[in-house]
Amino acid sequence: MRLILLGPPGAGKGTQAQRLVQSHGIVQLSTGDMLRAAVKAETPVGLKAKDIMARGELVPDAVVVAIVSDRIDQPDAANGFILDGFPRTVPQAEALEAMLADKGLALDAVVELKVDEAALLARVENRVREMTAKGEAVRPDDNPEALKTRLSAYRSQTAPLTAYYDGKGMLRTVDGMASIDRVTASIEEVLETAKAAGGRSASAAAAR
Ligand code: ADP
Repeated sequence: MRLILLGPPGAGKGTQAQRLVQSHGIVQLSTGDMLRAAVKAETPVGLKAKDIMARGELVPDAVVVAIVSDRIDQPDAANGFILDGFPRTVPQAEALEAMLADKGLALDAVVELKVDEAALLARVENRVREMTAKGEAVRPDDNPEALKTRLSAYRSQTAPLTAYYDGKGMLRTVDGMASIDRVTASIEEVLETAKAAGGRSASAAAAR
């Protein structure tokens, strides 16, 4: 099973991805997590990404595309993966398509978590409160100013991906405002349907 989770910051992609990891025995590939690890380790990629991320802007496409390509080649991703936070721009989606074709792989589904924008700020504020309460470090981009930038990056650069994948017949939309369990159930339903279609739509879409 290879899928993409699409949705704005705070939509619940990470929460749902972790559940799918458990139920499907696949890995979660979060470009946000990978970049934060690179920042922490002060690798060349991390040094480049640090300030961009703190502002809430997008890291250059070439940087994330290279990270994802390497990560997909790791043995633990052979059984499948959930892309969380990637692709985030149409050029990234095009690069992903070429990269997967190169590796002889195809996507099974693209799942969009649809949420009201008004709820997102509250969700991120809640995450900050919870992390602070647990004594965990708060992300440098989880503040109102950076969140505003993240949302506007989402609107202008990432939201067009829904039309992109819809045009390929691959988009499945789920109500992300429901409870966490309900959202998980809806995603599982959507994946059953995608599985039943047997990846036919994915390969047909790739040929288009
Ligand atoms: P969010 O909670 O906003 O979905 P992520 O953890 O996915 O955040 O990403 C945090 C930051 O990492 C982004 O604001 C961006 O700077 C960078 N980033 C993550 N994935 C990508 C990507 N695919 N392309 C460009 N930048 C990315």
